[in-house]
Amino acid sequence: MSFSTILGHQPRIDAFRQIVANQRLAHAYLFVGPPGVGKRLVALELAKAILCEAPGPSPAVLDACDSCAACLLVQAGTHPDLFQVARPEDKNEFPIAVMQELCRNFSFKAARGHGKIAIIDDADDFNDESANCFLKTLEEPPPGSLLILLGTSLDRQLSTIKSRCQMVRFAPLSDEHVRKLLTKQGIDNPSLIERLVRLAAGSPGQALALADETLWQFRRALLQGLTQPRIDSVALSRQFVEFAEQAGKDAPAQRRRVNQMLRLLIEAFTDVLRIQAGASARSAEPAELPLLASLAQRAGPDKIQAVLERCLETETQVGRYVQLSLVVEGLVDALGQILDHAGSLPARHLGFAN
Ligand SMILES: [Zn+2]
Repeated sequence: MSFSTILGHQPRIDAFRQIVANQRLAHAYLFVGPPGVGKRLVALELAKAILCEAPGPSPAVLDACDSCAACLLVQAGTHPDLFQVARPEDKNEFPIAVMQELCRNFSFKAARGHGKIAIIDDADDFNDESANCFLKTLEEPPPGSLLILLGTSLDRQLSTIKSRCQMVRFAPLSDEHVRKLLTKQGIDNPSLIERLVRLAAGSPGQALALADETLWQFRRALLQGLTQPRIDSVALSRQFVEFAEQAGKDAPAQRRRVNQMLRLLIEAFTDVLRIQAGASARSAEPAELPLLASLAQRAGPDKIQAVLERCLETETQVGRYVQLSLVVEGLVDALGQILDHAGSLPARHLGFAN
């Protein structure tokens, strides 16, 4: 893969071509933009183009050949002069040990003679300790080396880091680009593509994470459970926990899945509010519309608002590493209570009077 396959970031790529052609590449860049818009992809492609060992036509053409030994090593994730680090998924902050190891590795001579490059993800999560350990390398990296930090917002960067990096801003992609990328990834269901484009808000990474059909199937099962005359919270939360566990044995994968489901539930209940306000649902497929309509009848906007608040609160709990099964049980139980007690509407409004 080369720069030509990256959608939506041409101005930034052109700027890097210009900078490299003028031999003005800085030693540290901070890429800032929403998650999932392609920052890592551009960083990796830039690294590959710089480390590429094919005799290029001119540096101004900054692009990887994709076939020399160095390009193949980058693609395999095993290039000895390219380091990629990130905050471990089960930690809230960037551990100092990760930075110490990176700085140590960075102090050795480049193995293949084309300089050294580090891509440092989750720059948002540096603490003072890990940032301080990194400052010396950031200030005086070995000659020919390049550090690329990735963060989601400028506000979340420590001033010590910000002041030592050139900033490159990444904006969300257009819906058209997200649509194209989803199609390229083999998603061919037009209704799913439209729902994903809307949910993604310009982030193909987010769209792809939600493209898994099983997420949507399980959302429907949950909505079905929540529209029953008597909500069986125990059975529903057990199903929810099992669904999370199907994401894999490791806790981060399960947390990701619960967060994705929360995202889809929030969308569904936002649609319920829309229906109550006389508008049409946006993130539902046709088969879900009767379920959303039933929820809209069952509980007033204040109750649906309470459901939404509970879902948002749960997102925070998942991020705080509370035991996942407890978080899920707490959520389903609360939704059951809010919606069950909402059954004060006369039964004929709920569609099961007869
Ligand atoms: Zn190459």
